[in-house]
Amino acid sequence: MTAFPLPPGSVIGILGGGQLGRMSALAAARLGYACHIFAPDLDSPGMQVAAHRTVAAYEDRAALARFAASVAVVTFEFENVPAAALEALAGLVPCRPGLAALATCQDRAAEKAFLDRIGVPVAPWRLVESEADLTAAVAALGLPAVLKTTRMGYDGRGQAVLRDAMDLAPAFARLGPKPLVLEAFVPFAAELSAIAARGADGTIAVFDPVENRHAHHILDLSFAPARVPAAVADAARAHAAAVADGLDLVGIVALELFLLPDGRLLGNEIAPRPHNSGHWTMDACAASQFEQHIRAVAGLPLAAPDRHHDAVMRNLIGPEGLDAWPRLLRMGQVVPHLYGKAEARAGRKMGHANRLLPHGSLAKLTDKAALGEL
Ligand code: AMP
Repeated sequence: MTAFPLPPGSVIGILGGGQLGRMSALAAARLGYACHIFAPDLDSPGMQVAAHRTVAAYEDRAALARFAASVAVVTFEFENVPAAALEALAGLVPCRPGLAALATCQDRAAEKAFLDRIGVPVAPWRLVESEADLTAAVAALGLPAVLKTTRMGYDGRGQAVLRDAMDLAPAFARLGPKPLVLEAFVPFAAELSAIAARGADGTIAVFDPVENRHAHHILDLSFAPARVPAAVADAARAHAAAVADGLDLVGIVALELFLLPDGRLLGNEIAPRPHNSGHWTMDACAASQFEQHIRAVAGLPLAAPDRHHDAVMRNLIGPEGLDAWPRLLRMGQVVPHLYGKAEARAGRKMGHANRLLPHGSLAKLTDKAALGEL
């Protein structure tokens, strides 16, 4: 039986070996814990810094059972871990977040129904199982609209913007697995995200909401804090807290939001794990999103989510991202991070860099001035 809070020296199990697992394991080490990473690939960013490793398929029940026996608690670093793996572990060891939170966030339709239920507005949407459904959904929502898979979509994969009637059949044929969802196109003024941690006792701590910019569907920049009126930032925080409560989460959750030109917010996606748009917290807050995640999972008190600096985060993507590395190392007030990936393929997240700015200064800066040489 696991007793919480976990004493120093305990082993935390992490499903998934990507950079989010790597940075979680590093944060755990600082708090005196060791991490055991379970992932299908030895050559992964998380494995490089893990104290213990299991290289096995998520479907390998025997490996999952051995893993469960070797750890005090299990968490995950990406939400596409098969729910069956977490289900198999749940009977053997505490899992934080649990299966219900994971299942809600793995399915876009379930996620939207959940946001509707807890009172976070979302863009009008319809479930689409057939071409006839799609025709009816387009008649109801109008064009343009965005057709998305319900599962396994990330970084813009598994979606298509429909602009006219000719686009419907090819997009329906291309996207899968079915069912799909059709969403009204949102003419957003900005994309925001807010990250909330929730402890086992229900305490919630929310980081300042940030403004995100994408390039080729991949997060490129985050500006922290978002340059929005205080009422909008408060609403974003309240929505993220409502999501953490509604999921009965123990851990961390990111809520991606669209900001409409009239100041209203619409929920888009939920990720029940550390999030790329929270990497700025590593250098601009006393405790990062990864430390908050580990604190929640280990049953420790959450840290104050205050920021001591404003920050701009840039993702280092593909070979071009790596080319910037020597220059970033020479810059003052810039903290670079690399994930240890051997091959810099196009579109691959290789690392990120945080530019620190004096607290409260970002609101007065243009994007160009905020970025500086970043
Ligand atoms: P998602 O996979 O849902 O996070 O979508 C990836 C990106 O596509 C978002 O960050 C937006 O930039 C864009 N996008 C997604 N859904 C919509 C929508 N309904 N209207 C306009 N843009 C969207």
